[in-house]
Amino acid sequence: MDLSSNRCLKWGLIGSLVVALALCLALFLLATRAGGETTDTAPPVPGDNQPIMTTPPAEETYRQLTPEEENVILRQGTERPFTGEYTDHFAAGLYTCKRCGAMLYHWQDKFPSHYGWPSFDHSIPGAVKRTPDADGIRTEITCAHCGGHLGHVFEGEGLTDKDTRYCVNSISMLFLPEEQVKYGQAYFAAGCFWGIQHLLDQQPGVLQTTVGYTGGHTETPTYQQVCSHTTGHAEAVAVLYDPVRVSFETLAKLFFEIHDPTQLNRQGPDRGDQYRSAIFYTTDEQQQVAEKLIAELKGRGMNVVTEVTPAGPFWPGEDYHQEYYQKQGGQPYCHARKQLW
Ligand SMILES: [Zn+2]
Repeated sequence: MDLSSNRCLKWGLIGSLVVALALCLALFLLATRAGGETTDTAPPVPGDNQPIMTTPPAEETYRQLTPEEENVILRQGTERPFTGEYTDHFAAGLYTCKRCGAMLYHWQDKFPSHYGWPSFDHSIPGAVKRTPDADGIRTEITCAHCGGHLGHVFEGEGLTDKDTRYCVNSISMLFLPEEQVKYGQAYFAAGCFWGIQHLLDQQPGVLQTTVGYTGGHTETPTYQQVCSHTTGHAEAVAVLYDPVRVSFETLAKLFFEIHDPTQLNRQGPDRGDQYRSAIFYTTDEQQQVAEKLIAELKGRGMNVVTEVTPAGPFWPGEDYHQEYYQKQGGQPYCHARKQLW
């Protein structure tokens, strides 16, 4: 082994008998360990002669793969057409990454292509990464979270309105029936909801955001009623997210960074209790994370006034408030990110 010979050369220069003896022992141990590793490693699996991808740091949380799964997911192999479990599978649910569990495709975007592999014309936004193959002909698709190989994507075939075919190996995915899918759900209030939605939308792992009203005591409030300070609601953003790709803690840190949590019942030029800073938690864990982060900021001398309360009814806002900056263009007038962590 290269490692052993380098060590041998280095230590040989010292010329000490005692050290040489120690070296022999070390070499013996190294050789023994290396031998053990070789024995433990799964035998090479025939593939497309592609190198194994770099192991991402969070690998310990990933599912253990069989040699057959490794051949496709780690070595860019391809399962034989018409042999995969999901080729003709059209049940309601989500297709997730076999390796890391990230949500990849929704069943409603699946279509029968008759090519012999599962075909989708749309992926969950940001969940699938495209990389041109070295030959410049095809475009590889991988899981954006763990880098696992999924297959290839083709455009211009005219098969669906979206004119896109994600051709995915069944073995790269795990299907979850709709009732087993565990989305993350979070609710943040931090001033004018236009800007908060705009900034939360940019976080990878966020699947959907909705602006609306929560924390009040009336039903189906309108914007005018909320602005009249008679309903108790706060302008808020409901966030649906993939907990594999983004944690609540990451979202909550972002929340603190995109508004000023020390301003009471206002945010910049917007004044009134509907602009209060609040986290409406949906689980005990979310509550603990929110309180931990607030304690951390207070420990730094910030007088954080963010309320942490259980999530109650959330009333979606009027259509013209949804994705306001996406429709209108421009950047939020009162929200910008300020790094705190
Ligand atoms: Zn993955």
